[in-house]
Amino acid sequence: MNANEVKPVTQLIRPVDLSSALYVVATPIGNLRDVTLRALDTLAGVDVIYAEDTRQTRRLLDAYGITTSLRTYHDHNGAQMRPQIISLLEEGKSIALVSDAGTPLISDPGFKLVRDVRDEGHKVVPLPGPSALTAALSAGGLPTDTFTFAGFLPVKTGQRLDRLKSFAGQKTTLIFYETGNRLADTVSAIIEVFGAETELVMARELTKMFETIVHSEAGAFLEELNSSDKLKGEIVLMVSLTGDEAGTAGEADIDGYLLDRLESLGAKGAANAAAKEFSLSKRDLYARAVELQNAQKDKAD
Ligand code: SAM
Repeated sequence: MNANEVKPVTQLIRPVDLSSALYVVATPIGNLRDVTLRALDTLAGVDVIYAEDTRQTRRLLDAYGITTSLRTYHDHNGAQMRPQIISLLEEGKSIALVSDAGTPLISDPGFKLVRDVRDEGHKVVPLPGPSALTAALSAGGLPTDTFTFAGFLPVKTGQRLDRLKSFAGQKTTLIFYETGNRLADTVSAIIEVFGAETELVMARELTKMFETIVHSEAGAFLEELNSSDKLKGEIVLMVSLTGDEAGTAGEADIDGYLLDRLESLGAKGAANAAAKEFSLSKRDLYARAVELQNAQKDKAD
Protein backbone atom coordinates (compact mmCIF):
# COMPACT_ATOMS: atom_id res chain seq x y z
CA MET A 1 0.00 0.00 0.00
CA ASN A 2 1.50 3.35 -0.91
CA ALA A 3 1.77 6.03 1.76
CA ASN A 4 -1.05 8.19 0.36
CA GLU A 5 -3.50 5.35 0.09
CA VAL A 6 -6.23 5.54 2.74
CA LYS A 7 -6.63 2.43 4.85
CA PRO A 8 -10.16 1.06 5.26
CA VAL A 9 -11.34 1.95 8.73
CA THR A 10 -11.57 -1.66 9.84
CA GLN A 11 -7.81 -1.84 9.33
CA LEU A 12 -7.36 1.24 11.50
CA ILE A 13 -8.95 -0.45 14.50
CA ARG A 14 -6.09 -1.85 16.53
CA PRO A 15 -6.35 -4.91 18.74
CA VAL A 16 -5.80 -3.63 22.25
CA ASP A 17 -5.11 -5.47 25.44
CA LEU A 18 -7.42 -3.65 27.82
CA SER A 19 -6.90 -3.87 31.54
CA SER A 20 -9.95 -4.41 33.74
CA ALA A 21 -11.74 -1.06 34.04
CA LEU A 22 -14.92 0.79 33.21
CA TYR A 23 -14.24 2.67 29.96
CA VAL A 24 -16.59 5.66 29.57
CA VAL A 25 -16.75 6.11 25.81
CA ALA A 26 -18.06 9.18 23.95
CA THR A 27 -19.83 8.38 20.68
CA PRO A 28 -21.07 10.61 17.80
CA ILE A 29 -24.00 13.02 18.22
CA GLY A 30 -25.10 12.56 14.61
CA ASN A 31 -22.28 12.08 12.16
CA LEU A 32 -20.94 8.55 12.67
CA ARG A 33 -17.53 9.61 11.38
CA ASP A 34 -17.00 11.73 14.49
CA VAL A 35 -16.13 8.62 16.46
CA THR A 36 -12.50 8.48 17.61
CA LEU A 37 -10.14 5.68 16.64
CA ARG A 38 -9.49 5.00 20.32
CA ALA A 39 -13.24 4.66 20.92
CA LEU A 40 -13.39 2.05 18.14
CA ASP A 41 -10.32 0.19 19.50
CA THR A 42 -11.94 0.13 22.92
CA LEU A 43 -15.45 -0.84 21.80
CA ALA A 44 -13.92 -3.66 19.75
CA GLY A 45 -11.63 -4.74 22.59
CA VAL A 46 -13.77 -4.73 25.76
CA ASP A 47 -15.54 -7.83 27.04
CA VAL A 48 -18.97 -6.16 27.24
CA ILE A 49 -20.48 -2.84 26.17
CA TYR A 50 -23.29 -1.41 28.31
CA ALA A 51 -25.48 0.89 26.22
CA GLU A 52 -28.56 3.00 26.88
CA ASP A 53 -30.33 1.56 23.85
CA THR A 54 -28.65 -1.44 22.25
CA ARG A 55 -30.33 -0.87 18.86
CA GLN A 56 -28.91 2.64 18.65
CA THR A 57 -25.40 1.51 19.60
CA ARG A 58 -25.63 -1.50 17.27
CA ARG A 59 -25.92 0.94 14.34
CA LEU A 60 -22.59 2.49 15.29
CA LEU A 61 -20.92 -0.87 15.87
CA ASP A 62 -22.25 -2.26 12.58
CA ALA A 63 -20.85 0.73 10.70
CA TYR A 64 -17.38 -0.27 11.89
CA GLY A 65 -17.77 -4.06 11.88
CA ILE A 66 -17.59 -4.38 15.68
CA THR A 67 -19.31 -7.43 17.17
CA THR A 68 -18.71 -7.00 20.93
CA SER A 69 -21.62 -8.16 23.07
CA LEU A 70 -24.07 -5.46 24.13
CA ARG A 71 -26.19 -5.15 27.27
CA THR A 72 -28.42 -2.32 28.45
CA TYR A 73 -27.67 0.19 31.17
CA HIS A 74 -30.22 2.97 31.60
CA ASP A 75 -32.03 4.92 34.30
CA HIS A 76 -34.66 2.21 34.78
CA ASN A 77 -32.38 -0.81 35.24
CA GLY A 78 -29.30 0.90 36.70
CA ALA A 79 -29.89 -0.35 40.26
CA GLN A 80 -29.92 -3.99 39.06
CA MET A 81 -27.08 -3.60 36.57
CA ARG A 82 -24.55 -1.86 38.82
CA PRO A 83 -23.82 -4.91 41.02
CA GLN A 84 -23.60 -7.04 37.85
CA ILE A 85 -21.06 -4.66 36.31
CA ILE A 86 -19.03 -4.50 39.51
CA SER A 87 -18.87 -8.29 39.76
CA LEU A 88 -17.65 -8.44 36.13
CA LEU A 89 -14.90 -5.97 37.07
CA GLU A 90 -14.05 -8.17 40.06
CA GLU A 91 -13.60 -11.06 37.60
CA GLY A 92 -11.09 -8.90 35.72
CA LYS A 93 -13.34 -8.02 32.78
CA SER A 94 -13.16 -4.81 30.78
CA ILE A 95 -16.43 -2.93 30.35
CA ALA A 96 -17.43 0.01 28.15
CA LEU A 97 -20.27 2.40 28.94
CA VAL A 98 -21.86 4.35 26.08
CA SER A 99 -25.00 6.44 25.79
CA ASP A 100 -27.23 6.91 22.75
CA ALA A 101 -25.16 9.86 21.60
CA GLY A 102 -22.31 12.01 22.87
CA THR A 103 -20.59 11.70 26.21
CA PRO A 104 -22.12 9.44 28.88
CA LEU A 105 -23.12 11.21 32.13
CA ILE A 106 -23.68 14.54 30.33
CA SER A 107 -27.48 14.61 30.78
CA ASP A 108 -27.23 10.86 30.30
CA PRO A 109 -27.06 7.83 32.61
CA GLY A 110 -23.83 6.71 34.27
CA PHE A 111 -23.14 8.94 37.27
CA LYS A 112 -24.14 6.35 39.90
CA LEU A 113 -22.29 3.62 38.04
CA VAL A 114 -19.04 5.62 37.83
CA ARG A 115 -19.36 6.56 41.50
CA ASP A 116 -19.96 2.94 42.59
CA VAL A 117 -17.17 1.57 40.41
CA ARG A 118 -14.78 4.15 41.87
CA ASP A 119 -15.97 3.45 45.43
CA GLU A 120 -15.41 -0.28 44.92
CA GLY A 121 -11.81 0.48 44.01
CA HIS A 122 -11.96 -0.22 40.27
CA LYS A 123 -10.49 1.95 37.55
CA VAL A 124 -12.63 4.35 35.46
CA VAL A 125 -11.08 5.42 32.15
CA PRO A 126 -12.56 8.31 30.12
CA LEU A 127 -12.48 8.26 26.33
CA PRO A 128 -13.20 11.86 25.33
CA GLY A 129 -15.06 12.68 22.16
CA PRO A 130 -18.26 14.29 20.89
CA SER A 131 -20.75 16.09 23.06
CA ALA A 132 -23.52 18.47 21.97
CA LEU A 133 -22.37 20.74 24.81
CA THR A 134 -18.83 21.31 23.55
CA ALA A 135 -19.83 21.23 19.87
CA ALA A 136 -22.39 24.02 20.43
CA LEU A 137 -20.07 26.06 22.60
CA SER A 138 -17.20 25.77 20.12
CA ALA A 139 -19.26 27.15 17.21
CA GLY A 140 -21.71 29.46 18.99
CA GLY A 141 -19.55 32.57 19.16
CA LEU A 142 -20.58 33.42 22.74
CA PRO A 143 -18.01 33.94 25.51
CA THR A 144 -16.49 30.65 26.61
CA ASP A 145 -14.20 31.77 29.43
CA THR A 146 -16.94 31.02 31.96
CA PHE A 147 -19.89 28.87 31.05
CA THR A 148 -22.60 27.09 33.02
CA PHE A 149 -24.09 23.88 31.70
CA ALA A 150 -27.59 23.50 33.12
CA GLY A 151 -28.84 20.45 31.20
CA PHE A 152 -32.61 20.31 30.68
CA LEU A 153 -34.73 23.00 32.34
CA PRO A 154 -37.72 21.86 34.42
CA VAL A 155 -40.91 21.37 32.40
CA LYS A 156 -43.20 23.24 34.82
CA THR A 157 -43.36 26.98 34.17
CA GLY A 158 -42.82 28.11 37.78
CA GLN A 159 -39.89 25.78 38.35
CA ARG A 160 -38.37 26.78 35.02
CA LEU A 161 -38.54 30.48 35.95
CA ASP A 162 -37.05 29.77 39.39
CA ARG A 163 -34.18 27.84 37.83
CA LEU A 164 -33.47 30.67 35.41
CA LYS A 165 -33.64 33.24 38.23
CA SER A 166 -31.05 31.26 40.12
CA PHE A 167 -28.50 32.31 37.45
CA ALA A 168 -29.36 36.00 37.68
CA GLY A 169 -26.42 38.28 38.35
CA GLN A 170 -23.89 35.76 37.03
CA LYS A 171 -21.51 36.64 34.24
CA THR A 172 -21.56 33.43 32.25
CA THR A 173 -22.75 31.71 29.12
CA LEU A 174 -25.67 29.49 30.13
CA ILE A 175 -26.13 26.29 28.16
CA PHE A 176 -29.32 24.25 28.05
CA TYR A 177 -30.40 21.12 26.24
CA GLU A 178 -33.80 21.64 24.62
CA THR A 179 -36.36 20.11 22.32
CA GLY A 180 -38.22 21.86 19.48
CA ASN A 181 -41.55 21.51 21.32
CA ARG A 182 -40.45 23.44 24.37
CA LEU A 183 -38.14 25.96 22.73
CA ALA A 184 -40.63 28.86 22.48
CA ASP A 185 -41.69 28.46 26.13
CA THR A 186 -38.09 28.45 27.22
CA VAL A 187 -37.24 31.54 25.19
CA SER A 188 -40.30 33.32 26.70
CA ALA A 189 -39.04 32.43 30.17
CA ILE A 190 -35.57 33.73 29.28
CA ILE A 191 -37.13 37.03 28.17
CA GLU A 192 -39.14 37.24 31.40
CA VAL A 193 -36.10 36.70 33.58
CA PHE A 194 -33.23 38.30 31.65
CA GLY A 195 -34.92 40.63 29.17
CA ALA A 196 -35.76 40.65 25.45
CA GLU A 197 -32.32 41.96 24.48
CA THR A 198 -30.49 38.96 25.90
CA GLU A 199 -28.07 37.54 23.33
CA LEU A 200 -28.62 33.89 22.54
CA VAL A 201 -27.50 31.18 20.15
CA MET A 202 -29.53 28.16 19.17
CA ALA A 203 -27.58 25.20 17.78
CA ARG A 204 -29.78 22.56 16.19
CA GLU A 205 -29.04 19.13 14.70
CA LEU A 206 -25.29 19.56 15.08
CA THR A 207 -23.17 17.38 12.78
CA LYS A 208 -26.33 16.27 10.92
CA MET A 209 -27.83 17.16 7.55
CA PHE A 210 -29.96 20.05 8.84
CA GLU A 211 -27.38 21.57 11.16
CA THR A 212 -28.41 25.17 11.94
CA ILE A 213 -26.80 27.76 14.20
CA VAL A 214 -28.81 30.93 14.86
CA HIS A 215 -27.53 34.00 16.72
CA SER A 216 -30.16 36.49 17.84
CA GLU A 217 -31.62 38.62 20.57
CA ALA A 218 -34.14 36.63 22.62
CA GLY A 219 -37.11 38.91 21.70
CA ALA A 220 -36.46 38.77 17.96
CA PHE A 221 -35.84 35.04 18.13
CA LEU A 222 -39.17 34.44 19.87
CA GLU A 223 -40.99 36.45 17.17
CA GLU A 224 -39.33 34.30 14.53
CA LEU A 225 -40.26 31.10 16.37
CA ASN A 226 -43.87 32.22 16.74
CA SER A 227 -44.19 33.04 13.06
CA SER A 228 -42.89 29.73 11.72
CA ASP A 229 -43.51 25.99 12.09
CA LYS A 230 -42.33 24.31 15.27
CA LEU A 231 -38.65 23.46 14.98
CA LYS A 232 -37.85 19.76 14.99
CA GLY A 233 -34.72 18.00 16.11
CA GLU A 234 -32.18 18.23 18.88
CA ILE A 235 -31.27 21.62 20.23
CA VAL A 236 -28.68 23.31 22.40
CA LEU A 237 -29.66 26.77 23.59
CA MET A 238 -26.96 29.15 24.81
CA VAL A 239 -27.64 32.42 26.60
CA SER A 240 -25.02 35.07 27.18
CA LEU A 241 -25.37 36.72 30.59
CA THR A 242 -23.37 39.84 31.27
CA GLY A 243 -24.09 39.84 35.00
CA ASP A 244 -26.33 42.89 34.95
CA GLU A 245 -29.41 41.72 33.05
CA ALA A 246 -32.45 43.85 33.73
CA GLY A 247 -34.81 40.93 34.21
CA THR A 248 -33.43 40.13 37.63
CA ALA A 249 -34.98 43.37 38.94
CA GLY A 250 -33.88 46.96 38.62
CA GLU A 251 -31.98 48.73 41.40
CA ALA A 252 -35.11 50.70 42.23
CA ASP A 253 -37.09 47.47 42.73
CA ILE A 254 -34.46 46.08 45.06
CA ASP A 255 -34.17 49.31 47.06
CA GLY A 256 -37.95 49.44 47.42
CA TYR A 257 -38.03 45.83 48.60
CA LEU A 258 -35.30 46.48 51.19
CA LEU A 259 -36.86 49.75 52.39
CA ASP A 260 -40.22 48.02 52.90
CA ARG A 261 -38.57 45.52 55.25
CA LEU A 262 -35.83 47.49 57.02
CA GLU A 263 -37.96 48.54 59.91
CA SER A 264 -39.51 45.15 60.63
CA LEU A 265 -36.58 42.84 59.77
CA GLY A 266 -33.49 45.01 60.22
CA ALA A 267 -30.69 45.22 57.61
CA LYS A 268 -29.70 41.57 57.88
CA GLY A 269 -33.25 40.19 57.72
CA ALA A 270 -34.19 42.46 54.82
CA ALA A 271 -31.03 41.45 52.92
CA ASN A 272 -31.71 37.74 53.50
CA ALA A 273 -35.27 38.07 52.24
CA ALA A 274 -34.13 40.07 49.19
CA ALA A 275 -31.41 37.52 48.42
CA LYS A 276 -34.09 34.82 48.20
CA GLU A 277 -36.49 36.97 46.22
CA PHE A 278 -33.98 38.20 43.58
CA SER A 279 -31.41 35.37 43.71
CA LEU A 280 -28.66 37.88 44.47
CA SER A 281 -25.73 37.80 46.89
CA LYS A 282 -26.66 38.27 50.56
CA ARG A 283 -23.43 40.16 51.21
CA ASP A 284 -24.07 42.76 48.49
CA LEU A 285 -27.68 43.17 49.58
CA TYR A 286 -26.67 43.55 53.22
CA ALA A 287 -24.22 46.31 52.24
CA ARG A 288 -27.00 48.05 50.30
CA ALA A 289 -29.48 47.58 53.17
CA VAL A 290 -27.03 49.22 55.60
CA GLU A 291 -26.53 52.14 53.17
CA LEU A 292 -30.28 52.64 52.95
CA GLN A 293 -30.64 52.37 56.72
CA ASN A 294 -27.94 55.01 57.24
CA ALA A 295 -29.56 57.28 54.66
CA GLN A 296 -32.87 56.95 56.54
CA LYS A 297 -31.17 57.81 59.84
CA ASP A 298 -29.44 60.85 58.28
CA LYS A 299 -32.82 62.06 57.04
CA ALA A 300 -34.38 61.62 60.47
CA ASP A 301 -31.53 63.51 62.26
N1 SAM B 1 -24.77 12.97 26.37
C1 SAM B 1 -25.16 13.79 25.27
C2 SAM B 1 -24.04 14.79 24.95
O1 SAM B 1 -22.91 14.57 25.36
O2 SAM B 1 -24.29 15.76 24.27
C3 SAM B 1 -26.47 14.50 25.55
C4 SAM B 1 -27.61 13.58 25.82
S1 SAM B 1 -29.14 14.38 26.15
C5 SAM B 1 -30.14 13.04 26.63
C6 SAM B 1 -29.78 14.72 24.57
C7 SAM B 1 -29.85 16.21 24.29
O3 SAM B 1 -28.57 16.65 23.82
C8 SAM B 1 -30.81 16.57 23.17
O4 SAM B 1 -32.14 16.73 23.67
C9 SAM B 1 -30.25 17.88 22.69
O5 SAM B 1 -30.62 18.94 23.54
C10 SAM B 1 -28.74 17.63 22.84
N2 SAM B 1 -28.20 17.09 21.57
C11 SAM B 1 -27.83 15.82 21.33
N3 SAM B 1 -27.39 15.71 20.06
C12 SAM B 1 -27.50 16.92 19.50
C13 SAM B 1 -27.22 17.45 18.20
N4 SAM B 1 -26.76 16.68 17.23
N5 SAM B 1 -27.45 18.77 17.98
C14 SAM B 1 -27.93 19.57 18.96
N6 SAM B 1 -28.22 19.11 20.19
C15 SAM B 1 -28.01 17.81 20.46
